[in-house]
Amino acid sequence: MKLSKRLQFIMEQIPDGSTLADIGSDHAMLPVAAIQSGKVLRAVAGEVNSGPRDAAAKQVATSGLKDKISVRLGDGLDVVAPGEVDVITIAGMGGALISSILEQGLNKLQGVKQLILQPNVGEDIVRRWLLDNHFVLTSEHIMEEDRKVYEILTAVPENTNGTMLTNDEVYREYEVDSGNGTVKVTKDILIRMGPWLLKENNDIFTAKWMSELDKLTRVLKSLGTSSLSSAEAKSEVFAQEIQQIREVLSCLPKDRL
Ligand code: SAM
Repeated sequence: MKLSKRLQFIMEQIPDGSTLADIGSDHAMLPVAAIQSGKVLRAVAGEVNSGPRDAAAKQVATSGLKDKISVRLGDGLDVVAPGEVDVITIAGMGGALISSILEQGLNKLQGVKQLILQPNVGEDIVRRWLLDNHFVLTSEHIMEEDRKVYEILTAVPENTNGTMLTNDEVYREYEVDSGNGTVKVTKDILIRMGPWLLKENNDIFTAKWMSELDKLTRVLKSLGTSSLSSAEAKSEVFAQEIQQIREVLSCLPKDRL
């Protein structure tokens, strides 16, 4: 099974010997490839919609993996029993939906060793959910495929990972030198932009945030022409956010900007 660059990267994050639930599996490409690679022993492909569920079942049957991949119709983590899997992947949905799937399936997360999440938007919502629910973000990757940017977040339950990394460490605020003073990288900024992505600070990340700044600036401009009473307060929030992001970006090495 040939995966897209994005799904291939997600698959590579799965530890060897895992039992996997891929929620919102669509064509079950990820579990099929993960089983074929030998990384995953057994998998559940969950789908809430019958069209993609049928496509997944067909793919699994054609790949001769019906004995290793169970295709199930249901909402989010309803499709797995507590303790049935130790790795969960949820990819290609908004961050709010991913977070609500995790929230509604909290009792299914006992015994889960790793979450690999790829929100299309709203990555900060996922980071906040993980933080609030004692999952430590152990890595983040940003990548580009077909001119779309994707972030892949990996998390483990707090206090159970080998490195004993804590959320306090991951989201510890710090200061960076802007050349004419220091800029504080606050917890809110770490959640918004990604603590590991900020540290790695690669070109895709910079380009993403330059584009986000453009979007935010356009929203701020349109708020300036609004007669709504709430517009002023909203403008203030946007202006502050733009300033914070600009300040942080300005501390990147100059050849990246
Ligand atoms: N995970 C695949 C990927 O990343 O390429 C497919 C992503 S596709 C855009 C999103 C899939 O999630 C759809 O097939 C949709 O039916 C499914 N989905 C949406 N909400 C869901 C939920 N609450 N539970 C299970 N599946 C869901």
